[in-house]
Amino acid sequence: MNGDGVCRRCGERLVCIDIDPVETEEFGRKLANLACEREAKADFTGFQEWLEHHGPFDAVVDGANIGLYNQKNFSFIQLNSVVNGLRQLSPTKKLPLIVLHSRRVKGGLADNPSNKKLLEGWRRAGALYATPYGSNDDWYWLYAAVKSRSLLVTNDEMRDHLFELLGTSFFPRWKEKHQVRLTFKRGPNFHMPPPYSIVIQESERGSWHIPTISGDDIETLRQWVCATRDIDAVSFRSAPQLAQMKL
Ligand SMILES: [Zn+2]
Repeated sequence: MNGDGVCRRCGERLVCIDIDPVETEEFGRKLANLACEREAKADFTGFQEWLEHHGPFDAVVDGANIGLYNQKNFSFIQLNSVVNGLRQLSPTKKLPLIVLHSRRVKGGLADNPSNKKLLEGWRRAGALYATPYGSNDDWYWLYAAVKSRSLLVTNDEMRDHLFELLGTSFFPRWKEKHQVRLTFKRGPNFHMPPPYSIVIQESERGSWHIPTISGDDIETLRQWVCATRDIDAVSFRSAPQLAQMKL
């Protein structure tokens, strides 16, 4: 598939199945309930209020994941390059929401004058949320992105226990449409969600496209199986043969 979802073999375009806003809202409620259960209640409801006041955002950044990606020590410079890149992409040039655990915004590297300045700037702009000690910041960035219906910037595959709690009926579809992944080559490269859906699908002219899991990472393109009908050949054949597709 090329970047627009056009099959290089048969020339057909993959479809995009939109996510129902009502479903998204229901999922947001379920997520908030789970987060309140798992996190100290006062803290998470405090965050919901904070988000109500400062949001919505065009993008939400999983700060720890981005600051540590391919780094031994947390890199504020790398995180800042992503934040600035996202600001450029925003139609209103608004800063994304940066979610970071409290331990990353105080002491250690955070006390370095240039990092301190960055943190101050983000805080003043209402773009930084430091999750409390003892919290799992995953709940915060995920909820903020679902609630804001925004992009979520993380290279986290979101497959661990927390995400398993969210079920498989809605969350994988949401993730496919909202997760932005990153690589770095002289600055960040944003890998936007594809403009098509990663599901088995039949096109109008009868081609079938089947996604495979090979190439399901940032660097290589996902592989698809393309199965087209030989329309001229099948028109005179019997029914069982019609079902046969030319691979
Ligand atoms: Zn095709």
